This record gives sequence, structure tokens and C-alpha cells, in this order.
Amino acid sequence: MKFIADGMLGKLTRWLRMLGQDVKYSNQFEDEELIITANKEHRVLLTRDLELYQRAIAKGIDAFYVEGRTEAEKLAELAKRFDFPLVIDLKRSRCPRCNTKIRPTPKEKLAGKVEKNTFIYYDEFWKCPKCGHIYWQGAHWEGIHATLEKAKNLEKSLQFNF
Ligand SMILES: [Zn+2]
Repeated sequence: MKFIADGMLGKLTRWLRMLGQDVKYSNQFEDEELIITANKEHRVLLTRDLELYQRAIAKGIDAFYVEGRTEAEKLAELAKRFDFPLVIDLKRSRCPRCNTKIRPTPKEKLAGKVEKNTFIYYDEFWKCPKCGHIYWQGAHWEGIHATLEKAKNLEKSLQFNF
């Protein structure tokens, strides 16, 4: 399953990439470009624009109209519809910034490249081979978990008719 997200879904895109989903995103894509790329690359178009959603569907493009207000609500809708777990496994994660699969990187290679305290307190690091950004499960991780737990509970209460 691959996605392309409209310009309003930057934050959701970063979440989906962390969850291991392949999401193409740019806030520069025009509507027509989104539809053409979705079609050409077999990506599901994610959009908050009802008109764009209807145009895509009319052209036979696989699209999903994202309605949730909070990130947890949006993630719950998507996990339910596309059946993927709301669990971050860094072995499957993609770089939230550029959509490339991140790779574990030995701590000793990062001396001087991350803040000293971070280097002292954490042992596992990942790096994006494309943009070079370094990731670790830092203090923000609790917030990430809380949002995912909320999303999981919401997902259970959602019912769709297909
Ligand atoms: Zn990257």
C-alpha cells in the first residue's frame, strides 16, 4: 500500500511514515498533479478536500477522504480502512522528512554528531541514508505513544460500511 497526501496533510504524513507507510508528499503539488501521480504510481490519494476526493473517485483513482480533526482520529480512520497496525517499529519506519527507510546506525559513529546528553542516555540510533537525519527514542516518545494509544482506542469504536 502506497499513498500520496495532499498539502493539508503534512503532519499526518510524518506519522504515517514513522508507522512504516510509504507516503509521497509535497505542499507544492497541484490537484491535477496529485491525481496524475496517484494514478501513475498506484498510490492511494489521501485528501481533506472533498471536491478533490470526488474528482479522483470519478476518474477511477483510489482515494480516501480524511475527516478526523485530531491526528489520533485521522490515524484511527486510516488504520481501520487500510488495515495496518498503529505501532511504530523503527525497523520498518521511514524518515518522516523524506520517506526513505531509516537504518540502525552504530552509536560510536555518532560521537559529536548528537548532543552530549543524548549520546550518553541513549544507545540505539537510526539514520536516514538520504537526508542524514538521526533518530532515537527520546523524551518525545511518550507523547508519540499516548497519541497512538488514543488512536487505537478510537479505531476500535469506528465502524465503516463498505
Ligand atoms: Zn530523510
